[in-house]
Amino acid sequence: MTERWMSERWMIVRNGDVLVATGGAEGELAMFPSRDVLDAFAEWETEHEIGPAGEPSVWTVGVSSDAVEPDGFMFVPLRALHPIVHAGDWPLAGRAVQIVEWSRTHRFCGRCGTPTELARGERAMRCPACGLLSFPRLSPAVIMVVHRGDEMLLAHGRAFPSPMYSALAGFVEPGESLEEAVRREVREEVGVEVGDLRYFGSQPWPFPNSLMLGFYAQWESGEIVIDPSEIVDAKWFHVDELPPFPGSMSIASQLINGYIRIRRPTGR
Ligand SMILES: [Zn+2]
Repeated sequence: MTERWMSERWMIVRNGDVLVATGGAEGELAMFPSRDVLDAFAEWETEHEIGPAGEPSVWTVGVSSDAVEPDGFMFVPLRALHPIVHAGDWPLAGRAVQIVEWSRTHRFCGRCGTPTELARGERAMRCPACGLLSFPRLSPAVIMVVHRGDEMLLAHGRAFPSPMYSALAGFVEPGESLEEAVRREVREEVGVEVGDLRYFGSQPWPFPNSLMLGFYAQWESGEIVIDPSEIVDAKWFHVDELPPFPGSMSIASQLINGYIRIRRPTGR
């Protein structure tokens, strides 16, 4: 286990998937390769150091979409990577995928079209002609459990892949505070007004570049009227009678489980 910290590790990204070594013993965590594995590829894009501070470096680099993995390695999608890597490595892999995508989509200045170069001293692409700096894109999104006593308002979204219910969520608009975004999203999606807001915590969510900001929002007034373009169904659920909700990878499950603990502090 300590071995993984002894040398540089490389997160080699192909189409949003990350290269890991295969063939470890069953139950053993997947390992990221060292620099020499990169030589198995014919070509690669700009290399980026992505941290973490105080440890041997982690680097990321993109390879072309038709690149073939070397023997003993495979490219794994981020979601499938979550259960097979060290917990602290998954956010790094998410960072790697986002940095490679940003680097690939900012090779030219968005203002004047000149090829960009890496800026010194900060994570940005700089245009040598007009000076425009382009930083990695992050899209803040609010996610909130609306609550009313022992009940939570959960919804089944149109895009959900399985028959589960989850917290409401939506992107923050330019010029909007997080609090305004929570109130607007709740009003738009289910037609109710919320009063007191309490910040819960945040989670980077690299699908593709969100930062999820979790809140508890106290119901104030109104009955549920769903926006059918986004929501298939929304209901009040008693904390003792909850529907299937998302797994532990997402902040939604932490929010929902957190509210159960608030209402049932001694367990159910
Ligand atoms: Zn420019």
